[in-house]
Amino acid sequence: MAKPRALIIGGSVGGLFAAHLLGSIGWDVDVFERVNEDLASRGAGIGTHPALREIMRRLGLSIDNSIVVVTPSYFCRDRTGRLILELPTPRMMSAWAPLYRGLRDNLRSARYHRGKDCVEVRSSADGVTAVFADGSQVMGDLLVAADGIRSTVRSQFLPDVKPDYAGYVAWRALVPERDVAPATRAVLKREYLFCVPEGELALCYVVPARDGDTRVGHRDYNLVWYRPAEEVALADLCTDAQGRRHGGSIPPPLIRPEIIADIRERACADLAPPLADTVLRTEQPFFQAIHDLASPRMVFGRVAVLGDAAFVARPHVGAGVTKAALDALCLAEVIAAAGGDLDTALARYDRERCRFGEWIVGRGRDLGASIGVRAKAEGHVTQDELDRRSAAVVGGYAANAEELARLTIDGSPPAGVACQA
Ligand SMILES: Cc1cc2nc3c(=O)[nH]c(=O)nc-3n(C[C@H](O)[C@H](O)[C@H](O)COP(=O)(O)OP(=O)(O)OC[C@H]3O[C@@H](n4cnc5c(N)ncnc54)[C@H](O)[C@@H]3O)c2cc1C
Repeated sequence: MAKPRALIIGGSVGGLFAAHLLGSIGWDVDVFERVNEDLASRGAGIGTHPALREIMRRLGLSIDNSIVVVTPSYFCRDRTGRLILELPTPRMMSAWAPLYRGLRDNLRSARYHRGKDCVEVRSSADGVTAVFADGSQVMGDLLVAADGIRSTVRSQFLPDVKPDYAGYVAWRALVPERDVAPATRAVLKREYLFCVPEGELALCYVVPARDGDTRVGHRDYNLVWYRPAEEVALADLCTDAQGRRHGGSIPPPLIRPEIIADIRERACADLAPPLADTVLRTEQPFFQAIHDLASPRMVFGRVAVLGDAAFVARPHVGAGVTKAALDALCLAEVIAAAGGDLDTALARYDRERCRFGEWIVGRGRDLGASIGVRAKAEGHVTQDELDRRSAAVVGGYAANAEELARLTIDGSPPAGVACQA
């Protein structure tokens, strides 16, 4: 009997997990990625969790010490560098490149097609057809939409479901550790460091270098600084020196020099010295607008939506890769368990993963809730109160890390956690 065939749209981490896992249950798999280039150079630090490490282990791709950097505690300092809090919170940070490379280079059970832009999906009684921008068409028994937050496939089935701007951006800096001041290195080599200016949140931690190097002296510092920006302010941030508007994002080299100068000045005024130093030393600060995305459904006939195409939690949660892996594992497991009844399997996938998606998007909203809230608007606030607020924000991050450490590969929200679904 011919193997059932899966068409996977999107060849990033979500698509690759689905390809591995559907391949492992005997499906014939094709992955179609819009981008022609290698995706290994995308992204920076990726927080790993036991569930992600377990799924990678099942695929024969261990996340071992050669591709992670471990930090033992969260620290919080104010803008003078004064220590407010230390919370033991072990984190294992890896990097995009080694994770993606491991998944991509070891994909033996599937064909990977680059430069294939899916523009339409057609369902019929016999299966599902993907139509590409180059005019080609491919037919399969199941189509997995792993095409990210701006998913073409999801938009076809849920045209009204769109990413919802959270009202703030994340400024980013990725700096080789050898490029920062010795005093900065002395702190950041051991501290996963937070600073909580009013209505904002900055954190910085050591990650493997872009090429995956984890040797001391060869790694990077990854800074993320959340700052409020109303829609009008975001439009201005995304306008280049020639006055051209770029929508909701702008290529980093086109960010106007005065905006970069302002962010460096603000960093010196508002951030703990090691964080300010990383902003000053990075060649090219850049920013990303932060969005929530929650889909009411993940299955449309023989189409299953997966990863960021279905749900995006704000990056505070730091588990988008883990979520995509859990979606893919659930999909493969429910199909294997249904003994050929694909409709029943997909209904179960829809139920289980929507529940998880709702939960994790809610977590992201909770963790970002303080951004844009300015204590000074409430009148005089004491230093103690400001310290308490900083400690509460970092405590929320620590609780999130602890919850994610309890996440098991059955993919339910951690036990004892309220779920909105
Ligand atoms: C600031 C920031 C920090 C983050 N930190 C972490 C972290 O620490 N840990 C973590 O786990 N996650 C983190 N994430 C999230 C993580 O990067 C994503 O959740 C993850 O990449 C989702 O994978 P995906 O495959 O679903 O989607 P994507 O990685 O977005 O991939 C979608 C793919 O589909 C392709 N595509 C799109 N449209 C089409 C089409 N029509 N036809 C064919 N192909 C198409 C795209 O080119 C792309 O390759 C972070 C994200 C941000 C923004």
